[in-house]
Amino acid sequence: MHGSLQPRARSERCLQVAASTAENRQDPERRPWSEREKGSRNMLRPMDSEQLREYGHRMVDFIADYYKTIESFPVRSLVQPGYLHNILPDSAPDHPETVEKVLDDVKTKILPGLTHWQSPNFFAYYPSNSSVAGFLGEMLITGLNVIGFSWVASPAATELEIIVLDWLAKLLNLPEQFLSKGKGGGVIQGSASEAVLVVMIAARDKVLRSVGKNALEKLVVYSSDQTHSALQKACQIAGIHPENCRVLKADSSTNYAMRPELLQEAVSRDIEAGLIPFFLCGNVGTTSSTAVDPLVALGKIAKSNEMWFHVDAAYAGNACICPEYRQYIDGVETADSFNMNAYKGLLTNFDCSLLWVKDQYAVTEAFSANPEYLKNKASQENLVVVDYKDWQIALSRRFRSLKLWMVLRLYGVETLKNYIRNHIKLAKVFEQLVSQDSNFEVITPRIFSLVCFRMVPTDDNDEKKCNVRNQELLEAVNSSGKLFISHTALSGKIVLRFSIGAPLTEEKHVKEAWKVIKEEASYLLRK
Ligand SMILES: *Cc1c(COP(=O)(O)O)cnc(C)c1O
Repeated sequence: MHGSLQPRARSERCLQVAASTAENRQDPERRPWSEREKGSRNMLRPMDSEQLREYGHRMVDFIADYYKTIESFPVRSLVQPGYLHNILPDSAPDHPETVEKVLDDVKTKILPGLTHWQSPNFFAYYPSNSSVAGFLGEMLITGLNVIGFSWVASPAATELEIIVLDWLAKLLNLPEQFLSKGKGGGVIQGSASEAVLVVMIAARDKVLRSVGKNALEKLVVYSSDQTHSALQKACQIAGIHPENCRVLKADSSTNYAMRPELLQEAVSRDIEAGLIPFFLCGNVGTTSSTAVDPLVALGKIAKSNEMWFHVDAAYAGNACICPEYRQYIDGVETADSFNMNAYKGLLTNFDCSLLWVKDQYAVTEAFSANPEYLKNKASQENLVVVDYKDWQIALSRRFRSLKLWMVLRLYGVETLKNYIRNHIKLAKVFEQLVSQDSNFEVITPRIFSLVCFRMVPTDDNDEKKCNVRNQELLEAVNSSGKLFISHTALSGKIVLRFSIGAPLTEEKHVKEAWKVIKEEASYLLRK
């Protein structure tokens, strides 16, 4: 592996800091600033390449040092609400300050208010990965700073996105219809929430085109009660009548998956009542407990009722690039759209959410707008180019595919697979430790790298007391600063979530975390 970028590689300070050249400093054309400011050597001039070189190198050093010392910070920030208001001025400075002074404030005032998502002891929520390749990609995106809203606005930005999304679709073994060569294709959204909103609006407009605009209040959306709140938000924004959002009780005996028979019943009832079922959201890896819905059965119901079927695999989709986990998205061929957050598990810095659709025209019909000032030859001869502005909410967009392309090339697919497998292996280690301890229980079967567990009720079997104790444990563990975990509720039980996926996490961190949890628990039990 010599010469390749390892996810864990600590960068060495091998970069030379270049001094800004004397000519640049004296060239009045390049410095359209006031006399006062010209006097200041450290004044930043936008966009002076020598200054960029100098301060860019320094900033990389600053960030590399942050990663080197990341374990010295409390993982969850210990500050109180409003802390920053008390230590920053009330208004922006009239005159330039130095980079040194700002970085000093970052160190003393901002870092204490951070929760360190990249800490190897971060086990809360789901991970949001950093990597050297992802970082270099972000640097390049920011450095080039092109806005590829239409093909002509930066042809490479559009074309690379199409290619990289096809690469990923093949990695996931998605059906051909999601590839760009036919009617389908992929697009990078900022988040899973935007992805589900985009496809819901596409589906809404598609059905309204055939049944008439007045039918909006008859449209019905289906999901399980384990579906991410992003779906509810999408319903609110898309104008779905609040009473037409069917939230079906998930099956607590199968890791909280959706029950197809409940879906079928609900759909039939709604049709009888004169309503129009139009959108179904299935999950692969719910946020609470990584539940996987039976996609094949759901897809059948969606198809026979002409509903748009969206699959939210924001977290667990990442694992499905490994052949041994691909089975969890079996049935995706019945879906109309599929979403996975590469920023959660694929060493791709936030933001990067991958969305594939089978019918890109359903999306562009809903999202295209072509004012005069954006008209251009390539787009008007529409057959050859994709204008990604018509696949998303905003007009402007970042060149995110560059980052994903760099991650795929600099690590290679095998490294990415093994990276995910390692986290799952570590989760198994944690699961073992929990299940061997009689004061604890694993709540739902672990599938990926999330372990749901809790302290068991004491002799009196009082569930309420048990919930309170687990809340106390959560707070005790997190205020220790040594690790950060989060929680959820399943069937009325407060459940602790131990989610592994930070790029620096090793087995020793998992074992140490368990030690801290046990210590805090035994303290609570003695109380
Ligand atoms: C993380 C997550 C989301 C929300 O992701 P955003 O990108 O923050 O919108 C939605 N669904 C699932 C299953 C998730 O894990």
